[in-house]
Amino acid sequence: MQRLSYLKPQTLEEALGYLNEYGEKVKPYAGGTDLMVQLREHTSKLKDVEYLMDVQYLPELRGIEVKDDCISIGCMTSHTEVNESPVLREHVPFLSIASSTVGSTQVRNKGTVGGNICNASPAADTLSPFVALNARLTVVSVDGTREVLVKEAMEKAGKLKFAPNEMATRITIDRLDGWHTAFIKLGRRKALAISRMNCAVALKLEDGVIADARIAPGCVFATPDRVEKAEELVKGQKPSAELFEKAGLAVSEEMIARTGIRWSTEYKKPVIEALIQRALCRAAGLPED
Ligand SMILES: Cc1cc2nc3c(=O)[nH]c(=O)nc-3n(C[C@H](O)[C@H](O)[C@H](O)COP(=O)(O)OP(=O)(O)OC[C@H]3O[C@@H](n4cnc5c(N)ncnc54)[C@H](O)[C@@H]3O)c2cc1C
Repeated sequence: MQRLSYLKPQTLEEALGYLNEYGEKVKPYAGGTDLMVQLREHTSKLKDVEYLMDVQYLPELRGIEVKDDCISIGCMTSHTEVNESPVLREHVPFLSIASSTVGSTQVRNKGTVGGNICNASPAADTLSPFVALNARLTVVSVDGTREVLVKEAMEKAGKLKFAPNEMATRITIDRLDGWHTAFIKLGRRKALAISRMNCAVALKLEDGVIADARIAPGCVFATPDRVEKAEELVKGQKPSAELFEKAGLAVSEEMIARTGIRWSTEYKKPVIEALIQRALCRAAGLPED
């Protein structure tokens, strides 16, 4: 493993100073569950890194706070904390479920939601619920603070649209009170498996009709996104397995339109259709088979 120096800023100001001074040579270190594996594997994107900057002591990156119609989640919140938070379980249960499917107990205790987003892997489990929740990432540097939608924060797989002196502090999400949500993950094994595909859906039901919908498939596009065509298709309709089958089809058509036909399409097309249909049935309280 390459030789690295350890930085332990006690304040956000100090951390931003390090980022400004060292730029690409410094990497924020949250739980380290992605970073340590990548360093051990000599991942090329880390070859110029000389400093790991531990961000766990920064209070700005901690805590879950309810603010009006939103919830603010510190980037250092672990998957275990997300899964066990009564606030998140009540208002955005599919996010808690997504965190509960990450890795093993040890990985969930150390791994954070900030790290899950900032690692920029399309297979990150919390990305789909965050995208469905219109999550915004607070990005800070010595130059100031900006907000970016999580779905727009990735340039490509493994790379964020961050300047070298920027880091993330918090994630702000809509509360979706009264909505019905579901998250389904498909891995190669039932435990300790990265998503092959996943999806997060949310339905707002009024008088038995779908008043609003969010449909966010995971591991389907190069960068995470909602599928508005599928959302529009179910809006104003009564929930049914047939309707949700059409929504699944709309998602697979969007996948092919954006990524083209690949060797994996034969597998991915029917699987994402089934996952979307199943997740929508689950959210609407309909039988899933
Ligand atoms: C055995 C194993 C199983 C796993 N299983 C899963 C799984 O099922 N699902 C899944 O989604 N992931 C899985 N992972 C990946 C990993 O655990 C998660 O992505 C985790 O959420 C990463 O969080 P972290 O705090 O450990 O990030 P770190 O490793 O500390 O950081 C990850 C990246 O984000 C950057 N970063 C961290 N915080 C910030 C910040 N505040 N601002 C800017 N950049 C930042 C780091 O510089 C680094 O590039 C697994 C990992 C292992 C080792």
